[in-house]
Amino acid sequence: MFNRVKQPNSGIAYLDNNATTALDERVLAAMLPYLRGQHGNPSSSHQLGRQARAAIDQARQQVAGLVAAHSSQVVFTSGGTEANNLALKGVAQRLPPGLIACSAVEHSSVLAPLAALQNDGWRLAKLTVDSDGYLVDEVLQQVVSRKPALLAVMAANNETGIVYDTQPVARSAREVGAIVLVDAVQAAGKYPLNFTASGAHLMSLSAHKIHGPQGIGALVVDKAVDMMPLLHGGGHERGRRAGTENVAAIVGFGKAAELAADELEARRRHTGILRAHLESRLTAELPKAVIFGQRAERLPNTCFFAVPGLDGETLLMALDQLGIAVSSGSACTTGDVAPSPVLMAMGIEADLARAAVRVSLSKDTTRDDVDRFVDSLKAQVLALQRFGSLACA
Ligand code: PLP
Repeated sequence: MFNRVKQPNSGIAYLDNNATTALDERVLAAMLPYLRGQHGNPSSSHQLGRQARAAIDQARQQVAGLVAAHSSQVVFTSGGTEANNLALKGVAQRLPPGLIACSAVEHSSVLAPLAALQNDGWRLAKLTVDSDGYLVDEVLQQVVSRKPALLAVMAANNETGIVYDTQPVARSAREVGAIVLVDAVQAAGKYPLNFTASGAHLMSLSAHKIHGPQGIGALVVDKAVDMMPLLHGGGHERGRRAGTENVAAIVGFGKAAELAADELEARRRHTGILRAHLESRLTAELPKAVIFGQRAERLPNTCFFAVPGLDGETLLMALDQLGIAVSSGSACTTGDVAPSPVLMAMGIEADLARAAVRVSLSKDTTRDDVDRFVDSLKAQVLALQRFGSLACA
């Protein structure tokens, strides 16, 4: 089993774990010495420096272990966003501009650097998905036949939780010489992952999705990949990413990765049971609710759904006042009233997409949190039916 954390802000039913997770107490304990006393620069040759270097080396092994990679393949970054930027821009800068392919449901930290690369002469081909959220094979084959130099596909989607079997996609892309990036930020720690078996040359990871600290992540890099660093300076991270390492955060990431690997099955079981409870209540008590990607293989912690007629953003605010934290889509696009691009790509009607709410669970979530959410949601739906607007909290 695993250590469930009672959060200091308890009272809040925190159901937004795909946005970020609470720092695990065991992770905090591992980090504290490096914030208090053991302050050596890992590049220094003295005792404190060597201790910091040893701590980073251990964390590198722990992070590699989460995805069955070799520690020498791990490049620490400031998070998943930087890892994706480093992978895409780093590889593109070493090649003459050509074609890049990505799935239509990638995270903005993949889509935005690809948009920027288009200004440098790169062309972009998006791999469409069907209404279940899966890649359309004919489109994939068509795009691959145009010989992309780079291909990005995520291991699991942050909104729907849909899991992508990257191996066959990567195999086709590799056959035409493409470099493959797998964004595993959401999948890692929630689903078994193996760097080599995924077919990736490059795989991005982030600590704060697995109860580690925010602002630290990694790019796992196949040593054959020629990549230009984004940051030039000292020879840190084998010349892939310059700058004095954030030792405490790296140690925290290492510990979080180790715990996520050890507890993977227990966490999957726990969140899966709670998600099944949530979805059976939704289906029985709000029969009009539509659960997106329900027929696809999904991360066990994620439920993205809509009740027709509701406005996701307004509902989120009403639930917030009741001490329930959910998301109306990707946290990175909150504030943007446009419907979720992921749902748009799946061909969901805009009005229904605007009603979407994402509930994402973690090892710390309780059945009571889920029940509070469903009870409050039902009250909101009832108010909407009675008064034509959501209830005031
Ligand atoms: N990729 C995916 C699929 C994500 O869900 C996120 C964050 O939500 C990121 C990348 C960016 O990671 P970070 O928040 O560490 O920059």
